Amino acid sequence: MRHWLARGSDELAAFTKEHGQPTFRAKQLRDWLHAKRAASFDAMSNLPATFRTALANEGSLRTLRELERRDAADGLTSKWLWEAEDGGLIESVLIIEKRLSRRTVCVSSMIGCPLACAFCATGGGGFRRNLNAGEIIEQVYALDTYARTPGDDPRDSAGVSHVVFMGMGEPLLNLDAVLSAAGTFRDADGMGLSGRRITISTAGVPDGIRALAAEGGNCRLAVSLHASNQAARERIMPCAKTWPLPALFAALEVFAASSSRDITFEYCLIDGVNAGRADARELVRLLKPFRCKINLIPLNPVPGVPFAAPSAPDIRAFQETLEAAGLSAPVRMEKGAEIGAACGQLGAQRRGTPTPAQPSAPGSIS
Ligand code: SAH
Repeated sequence: MRHWLARGSDELAAFTKEHGQPTFRAKQLRDWLHAKRAASFDAMSNLPATFRTALANEGSLRTLRELERRDAADGLTSKWLWEAEDGGLIESVLIIEKRLSRRTVCVSSMIGCPLACAFCATGGGGFRRNLNAGEIIEQVYALDTYARTPGDDPRDSAGVSHVVFMGMGEPLLNLDAVLSAAGTFRDADGMGLSGRRITISTAGVPDGIRALAAEGGNCRLAVSLHASNQAARERIMPCAKTWPLPALFAALEVFAASSSRDITFEYCLIDGVNAGRADARELVRLLKPFRCKINLIPLNPVPGVPFAAPSAPDIRAFQETLEAAGLSAPVRMEKGAEIGAACGQLGAQRRGTPTPAQPSAPGSIS
């Protein structure tokens, strides 16, 4: 059944008309779905009962079942594990950064992921399907409602301020649903977030990046680069064979021309693979033409995966090479270490596949 949260204003208007209702009902319905976030059709008290029945017969309102929520000891990072209607597992993370007054949701866009990056717990579990826009919106609304619930500290009880598509899945291989959900997050009668506060993170799908550029660069773009040359990238990201660096960077030039916003590059540091001084110098040459920031993320080890993070001095040396060239390259701190907040870990634990021993939040909440 089609998800009601996935339907735009036009679709709601058409449905309302088809069911012989006056035009204003479409606005009332949208209000129940997004502003009031009704959890049942019965709650939509100003809609006629016959119309509510028609709504219930032709779509779902909530489809995700909360299986588990884990809170970090500091209370600032929480991770949810959801079961979709077909039994697939997905995760969402809420990260509160008090100093910045940010409450960021890291949202999943797929059940599993087809890209199978060598260091990622999600990729290890294979690909099941794309999420629909309703399933994506549901995750964010649930965490937003949670974030608004008053706690001990009044600064905690405010809504979600940022959304990052850095959970499970490759958002640019599920473009329609991701753009539709992002549109709802931006809409004044959805969440009213500025596009500056919505980040789509990609392993580097050139056609998807061009599509974002054609959309007018409405969202921020983050690119999981993770290597500064083709050979190293292919070693850890099989998708680099399909989308080699020249094709990726040609698309990034198009995106940069379409948007006034800096591009974020995520760079997961892996000892002996991509973290030497020569790699850093190569990265400088590659990224110098872009207005960008580079998030350096020491690898979260995954059992069974033959990679490790570099030593602290090696990480520092890598960072210094970038900074000496004038590039902004913060090392991202681990968040939610004890709750398995890295990509795909809770789902992997449930599936019984290996999970990272030293978990942390998805790399780059910027
Ligand atoms: N498919 C998208 C978004 C999902 S992953 C993408 O590739 O960008 C979100 C981020 O977490 C990506 O940068 C991914 O490479 C990173 N990541 C996954 N597993 C990791 C690990 N074990 N250590 C560090 N970063 C990891």
